[in-house]
Amino acid sequence: MRLKLLGSGNAAGMPLYGCACEVCIEASANRRLQRTPCSAQLEIDGRTYLLDAGQMNLTQQFPAGSLDGILLTHFHVDHVQGLFHLRWGVGEEIPVYCPEDGEGCADLYKHPGILRFHAQQAYVPFVLEGGQVTPLSLNHSKPTLGYLIAWQNAQIAYLTDTKGLPPKTAELLGRQKLDLMVIDCSLMPGCDHPGHNNLDDALVLHKAIRPRRSVLTHIGHDLDIWLKANPQALPDNLSVGHDEQLVYPIV
Ligand SMILES: [Zn+2]
Ligand SMILES: [Zn+2]
Ligand SMILES: [Zn+2]
Repeated sequence: MRLKLLGSGNAAGMPLYGCACEVCIEASANRRLQRTPCSAQLEIDGRTYLLDAGQMNLTQQFPAGSLDGILLTHFHVDHVQGLFHLRWGVGEEIPVYCPEDGEGCADLYKHPGILRFHAQQAYVPFVLEGGQVTPLSLNHSKPTLGYLIAWQNAQIAYLTDTKGLPPKTAELLGRQKLDLMVIDCSLMPGCDHPGHNNLDDALVLHKAIRPRRSVLTHIGHDLDIWLKANPQALPDNLSVGHDEQLVYPIV
């Protein structure tokens, strides 16, 4: 099993359009500092799945036949906008595992094209290529699922978008031996939002759930600025994610 972050940014991304701050200027000049919509690529048993579909160029990144399915966390635009082009492709259907959400996003349900949406219940595991995926309820402004993915002896959790965790999700995760937790951390410390973690929230979850490693994702512009000014703020086994970063296994 391999997990690579494709995008590590919030909906606005990095550089922030129109911003002339030091961090944005650096990111404009250095692709490695840019943050595109939060998403990841999961390789499991030689097959390729996406966690979220906010990348705008999915059809170029994943030529026909190279994508076996998509696990959607929720239907906010920054997590599904890549589907609006992908759906009009021809050929094999692409399964999309998603939360039960009557609205979806725009006309995705009405005109799914080659996408086949499969709504999942929280805490009801399903099999994915010989691995097991358990959807987990998250705290967000739309129905949202995180995913606990187990394959052979490895366990990773992908948890965005969320503010804290519902008690049942936190309890379930606390009972696992997680190799990796990828967790929403959109905001700098002290900056509160009802649907997203700030760094204090993410640190509390990291301590409570005790994964071997945590990686922060869905990073917002202000958090990048804050981290540049406070480079020692993170414990050893917690790091800020970057686009194109292989987060599991560690090489
Ligand atoms: Zn800026
Ligand atoms: Zn969202
Ligand atoms: Zn989001």
